[in-house]
Amino acid sequence: MFNLVIFGAPGSGKGTQSERLIENYGLYHISTGEVLRDHIKRGTELGKIADSYISVGKLIPDELMINILADVLDKNAEATGKGVIFDGFPRTIEQAKALKTMLAKRGSQVNVVIGLEVPDEELVDRLVKRGKESGRSDDNLETITKRLEVYHSQTSPLRDFYVAEGLYAAINGSGSIDSIFADICKAVDARM
Ligand code: AMP
Repeated sequence: MFNLVIFGAPGSGKGTQSERLIENYGLYHISTGEVLRDHIKRGTELGKIADSYISVGKLIPDELMINILADVLDKNAEATGKGVIFDGFPRTIEQAKALKTMLAKRGSQVNVVIGLEVPDEELVDRLVKRGKESGRSDDNLETITKRLEVYHSQTSPLRDFYVAEGLYAAINGSGSIDSIFADICKAVDARM
């Protein structure tokens, strides 16, 4: 099993690069943002709760988010057998610790963390542009600003956590999609 975490601020290219990774490595992709947006679309109870956080740019509370992820892993035990691309999870140190425990129970671990590093000004430009097409309730300037704040205070400390675990591969996330993907492949292949 090869487990990859794709890590970075909103707008850093996690989704775009995940698509390439799925194609290239045949891993199972779990985007927690997509899981939540699907609940919102279907109008589930969880969707209602999720929407109240997402639309204001806040994180879903850890305990709830960890349970949601555990459920996705359990329900897709066979499909995730070869390995998983975790996209948008973990976003806090507590989530990272929970992920470690969940994978250890399956005799597995995180093998590499791909950290897409992009300056804030570029992130804002990209997210504002995406908002014109995505229809996402959180791609407006006010919510984007809040999401970046939340990223810097709650999520970016994970960089040091994974550096300490010897798992963090820093990738320059500015430039062409192809050249960024080539850098990612080098980091992945070195650990496969
Ligand atoms: P994303 O599609 O990854 O940008 O996620 C969109 C939104 O979903 C985030 O801004 C959060 O509100 C919520 N979300 C997604 N993943 C997580 C997570 N791991 N922990 C908490 N909230 C999350």
